[in-house]
Amino acid sequence: MLGNTLAVPSIYFDNNATTPVEPEVLEAMLPFLTQQFGNPSSAHSFGSTAAQAVARARAEVAALVGASSEQVFFCSSATEGINWALSARSGNIITSEVEHAATLKVTAEAAPLGGQLTRLRVDRAGQISLDALEERLKAGSSTVAMMWANNETGVVCPIEPVADLCERYGAQLHVDAVQAAGKLPIDFSQLPISSMVISSHKLFGPKGAAALIAREPAQVATLIWGGGQERNRRSGTENVPAIVGFGAACARAARFLHARAEGVQKLRDTLETAILERVPKTWVNGAGSTRLANTTNIGFESIDAETLAGLLDADGIAVSTGSACHANTLEPSHVIRAMTGSYQQASESVRFSLSHLNTREEVDAVVDAVCSAVAQLR
Ligand code: PLP
Repeated sequence: MLGNTLAVPSIYFDNNATTPVEPEVLEAMLPFLTQQFGNPSSAHSFGSTAAQAVARARAEVAALVGASSEQVFFCSSATEGINWALSARSGNIITSEVEHAATLKVTAEAAPLGGQLTRLRVDRAGQISLDALEERLKAGSSTVAMMWANNETGVVCPIEPVADLCERYGAQLHVDAVQAAGKLPIDFSQLPISSMVISSHKLFGPKGAAALIAREPAQVATLIWGGGQERNRRSGTENVPAIVGFGAACARAARFLHARAEGVQKLRDTLETAILERVPKTWVNGAGSTRLANTTNIGFESIDAETLAGLLDADGIAVSTGSACHANTLEPSHVIRAMTGSYQQASESVRFSLSHLNTREEVDAVVDAVCSAVAQLR
């Protein structure tokens, strides 16, 4: 039994890294891991049951973000989706300094076939300047890649004016909506966004499923050649249980979007206020911006964030100091560095990302644990 050998944190405040699979989602998946194991491409009834389940999941994913089923292309992770959307781009590309590593790397390494790459700076609140974006667009750019909400700070990008500017100057906008999906209302049909990516494991679905959502499905480049799955764009037998779980998670996220955001905001605000009040010399990264309701990124002056996170971990409390997707790096967050201009402040910052599954008792326990860990370290 895994549970006997692995230490499981009792308080999980790292939901921007990944989320647990909700019981209802697991229930929806189980038949496709057991009796309904068919291959969606098979002509018999095992196959058609699986194909119908994938089609239903596609509709559920589309509904969460106001897209149509035809616009949804399944893949294995948002990282894959971002690479899919951006690696074939030519011409000038504009992105920002605070993007996820997938966007930063694919635009730097794979995308600009002869084009120029611009990474817009952000201010202390984590926002790009729309004027700077417009200046670059005027100089001629074909692609803009921006995240809707930041994974480390929860800072929300004003995606509507960004999309309007891109439309005005004829640039294609690709949006990393991984942290926004399930937390903010998204209506793809109403915004001039050319492509968008969301990920199952960030919204209480399983790992191994994500979606690239494309305005013009016919223009999506072929990523993998083979048996013709995903309308010939990404061949390979579908991960049916994960896709079914992704769909079920999206359906629940759509249904409970507002209730979850309201509940988690109360918990996050209580946590943030209590830490700022009880621990001297603390600040909130991105405080000047609209932020996701579940996220707070707090700086603790003259405390090494890694050590603080380690002490909390020893107390059974899971938090993070950077992007979990940036595996095994001890470099302090590039996001906080870009916002504050300070390596020091980045190395003193801890992210707490909550969910509707957390409780007020957990918040109180985390505040107490943070207070005593900081007292011990200072
Ligand atoms: N974009 C953002 C904003 C993220 O937070 C993450 C994961 O942390 C990703 C992209 C990558 O997602 P995935 O883990 O599905 O590859």
